[in-house]
Amino acid sequence: MQSHEEEDVGLEAIQGALQPMWDAMLRHRDVLAAPLTPGLSALFIHLVLCAPFLLLDMLACVYPRLHSYQISESTSVMRVLRRWSTTLVRILVNYATVIVPFTAVLQSLMTPRFPLLAPTCLQLCIHVVLCVLLFDLLFFAWHWALHRFRWLFVHVHQLHHRHHRVPIALAAQDASGAELLSLLLLALGSARLLGLHPLSEVAFHLLNSWLAVEDHCGYRLPWGLQRLLPWLGAGAPHHQLHHSLQKGNYAPYFTLWDRLLGTEL
Ligand SMILES: [Zn+2]
Ligand SMILES: [Zn+2]
Repeated sequence: MQSHEEEDVGLEAIQGALQPMWDAMLRHRDVLAAPLTPGLSALFIHLVLCAPFLLLDMLACVYPRLHSYQISESTSVMRVLRRWSTTLVRILVNYATVIVPFTAVLQSLMTPRFPLLAPTCLQLCIHVVLCVLLFDLLFFAWHWALHRFRWLFVHVHQLHHRHHRVPIALAAQDASGAELLSLLLLALGSARLLGLHPLSEVAFHLLNSWLAVEDHCGYRLPWGLQRLLPWLGAGAPHHQLHHSLQKGNYAPYFTLWDRLLGTEL
């Protein structure tokens, strides 16, 4: 049997598991606080998360076995490459002209926060879950307004709906500059409202980027949100239906708000 002292040491080790990582990040605080870091790292993370789906889209043209996971109909490798490259160019232009400059100004205006202590694993998990839930609610309300008011739809949201029927993973960031900015502010605002530790905030942005890519990937992944959380998770099929019908299913990750407010498809 473990003694109380051994249990305490084990508990401290779990609670402090994130400290070495946070200490390493603190040693590079000048890089973390640099104006270009938020915009460029968001773009880099998005492209890294999307890359496997480019490969999957091309493989799906050749291997029919992958069709059982695919929401979209199969197409040719050339059409896949053309769609991905045109989407990528639009995203790079948006980042170069809107997102990177805006986040650089925002980063310069904000006082960097570098507390000495890292959050515990439990604190980080609670922070991230709460922040995803809050972001999901704010996104739902904003997305509903984008469809409800014609002017907002035409001038802010319509570009994202050029991916009608079935989107591709890259489409998660293929929208007007105004829409990308608004979603960025919702994500930053959710983290600030909840007072997240900077490390928890990084974890939230990573998870948020992945969930947005998963929503648009065009596959029913075995680990998709709709499979992991059958009663609550929305995932790719839920968001694909929104792109097809251009209405309903306004929440990005969970079905709760659409179900409660009668907008679920
Ligand atoms: Zn979408
Ligand atoms: Zn929409």
